[in-house]
Amino acid sequence: MEESQLSTTSGAEDDDPQPSTSNITEDDDSESSSSSAEDEPMAKRHLTVEEVRGMWNLVKVYRQLGTREQAIAFAEDRGMIPRTKMCQHHKKEMKIIYSTNKTVGSFVCNKSHRRAKFRVSRAKGTLFDNIKILMPQVFYLMYAYAQKYSYDETIREDFSEREQCLSTSTISNWFNQYREAVVKYQKHQQSMKGHIGGMGKVVQVHASQFSKRKNKESGTRGLWILGMIEDGNEDLRLEACTSNILSAEVLLPLIKKHVAEGTTIITDTSQAYDCLGDNGYIHRKMNHSDENNHTVGEKVRAQRIQSHSQWCAVKRFLSKDSYSNNSSNMDDLIYEYLWRREVKMKREDPFEELIHVINHSYKNHNPPLFFATVE
Ligand SMILES: [Zn+2]
Repeated sequence: MEESQLSTTSGAEDDDPQPSTSNITEDDDSESSSSSAEDEPMAKRHLTVEEVRGMWNLVKVYRQLGTREQAIAFAEDRGMIPRTKMCQHHKKEMKIIYSTNKTVGSFVCNKSHRRAKFRVSRAKGTLFDNIKILMPQVFYLMYAYAQKYSYDETIREDFSEREQCLSTSTISNWFNQYREAVVKYQKHQQSMKGHIGGMGKVVQVHASQFSKRKNKESGTRGLWILGMIEDGNEDLRLEACTSNILSAEVLLPLIKKHVAEGTTIITDTSQAYDCLGDNGYIHRKMNHSDENNHTVGEKVRAQRIQSHSQWCAVKRFLSKDSYSNNSSNMDDLIYEYLWRREVKMKREDPFEELIHVINHSYKNHNPPLFFATVE
């Protein structure tokens, strides 16, 4: 297989069908550009009027989360900051004061403690701990990340009253923080689901090599990404290979990690897959000409073509120009892609889903909000 040159005409669009505008070319096959219907990985992707009306948009974010008071109330409602806290010493509910803390206020015990009044920031251990931006901006940036805004868009649409613009480093820090939560969440979800495939099931396996533009110029070969998807199931699995060579040693552990033994695996004709038959799988090879070969079963061909078009959507996402300068590693981008894909598939609001992800992340990975320091 040869390295794929992948590029798109614009950096900011997503993986929605873009009939005949994607510039994907592949050296390893002569795949024609897919029609928009084939491109669409999930059936009935288009949302109903009610679904669209119920979703967040920028105006709604501005109207409902545009002030600090609104943002605090929203964070309380969604369980992102604690509403109450007991003083462990006096077993008495603490008061919230806003004067000492520019974000979400502090809990204070009015009773006398040994040295001073007992006080702890309400932001401690939450997303809002030590933030350097305004409360509404935290939600604005959450919205921008959820909607996959570019940095330029994010700077331009910022509605806060601040004189300064958001800097790219601020945006990047927050986007990275949100991405980190998404990656953790998505990995957790995947581990709960276990293996795909099994006896009598068919899993399609694809691999492509991705390289960032600057690497390509310097001649460095890109990473291999492996995709696995079961026929009739939308639970896509992706793995970045640690080596830039596609070999049995690299492939087998990754396939074993996701695909149950006894599964029929369909791959292309690369020799790297020859190991599968000796390792508990039923292996079938299929090249692109087979996809047009009518002696191959109609259903088998249809599934291969369908999984191929899903694979094209994956490649488009991972090869965006916007990611050429992205410091995130491929592994994180893969999980981010899988998360966005799932949100779209389940017809959910990306902003609401991101709140869910952040709450999951903070509740599972931070110590509970019981410890506090005396000031
Ligand atoms: Zn107290």
